[in-house]
Amino acid sequence: MAGIDIEGLATVYPNGVRAVDGLDLHVADGEFFALLGPSGCGKTTLLRTIAGLETASEGTVRIDATDVTRTEPGKRGVAMVFQDYALFPHMSVAENITYPLKVRRVAAATRTETAERTAGELSLQGLLERRPGQLSGGQQQRVALARAIASEGKVLLLDEPLSNLDARLRLEARTFLKKLQRDLGITTVFVTHDQAEALALADRIAVMESGKLRQLGSPREVFARPTNTFVANFIGSTPMNLLPGKVSTSAGTPADSESVNGAVGVVSVAGGSLPATTISTPAGAEVTVGVRPEYLTLTTSDIPGPAIRGTVVVAENLGTQSLVTVDCDGTLIGVTVPEETEPAPGTPVTLTAPLTRVLLYTKDTGDLLT
Ligand code: ATP
Repeated sequence: MAGIDIEGLATVYPNGVRAVDGLDLHVADGEFFALLGPSGCGKTTLLRTIAGLETASEGTVRIDATDVTRTEPGKRGVAMVFQDYALFPHMSVAENITYPLKVRRVAAATRTETAERTAGELSLQGLLERRPGQLSGGQQQRVALARAIASEGKVLLLDEPLSNLDARLRLEARTFLKKLQRDLGITTVFVTHDQAEALALADRIAVMESGKLRQLGSPREVFARPTNTFVANFIGSTPMNLLPGKVSTSAGTPADSESVNGAVGVVSVAGGSLPATTISTPAGAEVTVGVRPEYLTLTTSDIPGPAIRGTVVVAENLGTQSLVTVDCDGTLIGVTVPEETEPAPGTPVTLTAPLTRVLLYTKDTGDLLT
């Protein structure tokens, strides 16, 4: 079993930057785990500290239940793939793949066998004699992965593994990587700043900001229920609507037939109101209301109950959907609709959302209420 346990970890650079700032994390055996966050949040430093390429200033790193905090990188049982792949240009693909085995003085016959088997697993058959310069970006990336896998580490660490590939190759490589990780069952931690990549690949995602963990959860959890407005802003290909609001019906007052924990209220926002679970927010409380464009429904008819009214400003084509921007009393709200159903600019519309999709955050700290 090769889980990773991180406790109270801090990595401070000589210039005083606390790139990782007191972090606790458990990555389960066999898990595909993403470290996600904006540039400079400390993802790469955390990955490099797990690998032993940076020294922990505080706390511990355990791999497979063994404390490796002070263990040198080569003895931690980790294999790392770097963003630029770091292949040796003068070596063949086969030599690159088996280099870690050569360092460990594994016999030549075993190395050849490993190169052929790993090349098979990574669709590199027929390329073993080529040099990296004679390969496409996608093939180079697979050689770097093959080398990591051939080294038989217990844990695979990937630093932005897909960032050097163009958009089409990237999608292909994403599917390939997901299947490979599943087939091998190897505990994998990958760093990305691309939220769509993390949502698509990971079993769980850690969202980081300024060296700290802001949310840890499954892709579904961090997408549907961000626990703070930082994560709400960062996750989702169309940003979550974050609107100033005021709770207008207090806890325990049923506003309609919908009920969650018996505390249903209404929160007023620009252009109208939305239903909300107001279990810990008294009437009159000022909050930030979060609702994803995907969870809003747009109609051109007027409907009863809590709703927001506004006028269509513009519609952008997203492929199978369109993002419609609606001006609601001066506040712009995004809502996605099926393609070719978007109303023309200037059309008066009504927006509604189901109670469970309306999230309330504190106005000052941006933390999720209830
Ligand atoms: P990116 O997505 O841009 O790679 P990141 O989230 O991986 O960013 P890190 O590279 O871990 O972030 O950097 C975290 C912080 O540490 C940043 O403020 C960065 O400037 C700083 N930093 C990184 N490497 C060093 C170093 N060798 N010396 C001093 N400060 C560093």
